[in-house]
Amino acid sequence: MTSSLPHISQIIRSQRKSFGLELKPDGRLIVRAPHAATRAQIEAVVAQKAAWIAKTRARLASQAAQHPPKTFSPGEQFWYLGEQYPLRLTDRQRPLLDLDGAFNLSRQARSQAKDVFIAWYREETRQITQSLIEPYVKHYGFKVNQVRVTSARTRWGSCSGKGNLNFTYRLCMAPLSVVEYVVVHELVHLNVPNHSRAFWAEVARINPTYQTSRAWLKQHGRLLTLD
Ligand SMILES: [Zn+2]
Repeated sequence: MTSSLPHISQIIRSQRKSFGLELKPDGRLIVRAPHAATRAQIEAVVAQKAAWIAKTRARLASQAAQHPPKTFSPGEQFWYLGEQYPLRLTDRQRPLLDLDGAFNLSRQARSQAKDVFIAWYREETRQITQSLIEPYVKHYGFKVNQVRVTSARTRWGSCSGKGNLNFTYRLCMAPLSVVEYVVVHELVHLNVPNHSRAFWAEVARINPTYQTSRAWLKQHGRLLTLD
């Protein structure tokens, strides 16, 4: 029944010995396969998983429908520190955006609403991560060079060899305990640049509840976006 074979968007071959299937949020199917795998073998693996692929694609499509891109309309909800607040348009000129139980956006800024929100989230993330990092530096002696806020879409934080820490502006949409976990995660990377057992043991020592935060991010992370 080749006619019912799910469409394969991309085949990535590598040294691996087994096959792996991945569905992207937009429904694209990526197949990871050993170098020697034939097209027929790949199609057989995909055919075997056709029911799972169809079910997962349907779930992803309904998730996408539930979370359409932001339109910056009154009443639309926006995240901050793990809570959602509705958007209100105001006739006020300055500030362009603030939060007092609702996000108040100056009506004149509505056409650049996304940029205004990004700037606001950026500044919040900068202040929050800075203030979280300070006590850890004092207490544990981490050597932090610069803290930067980026526009990364898929990573919450990263750490460079020169002691620079990067966090996405979206981070302050997460609960403070989750922000704290991401900060600790990157701080520990300054000393342990991998995800080894030793790395996680150190994260757990400094942030004993980190597993709850990881689980929260896994479940809600894709909602924390302006797209
Ligand atoms: Zn990491």
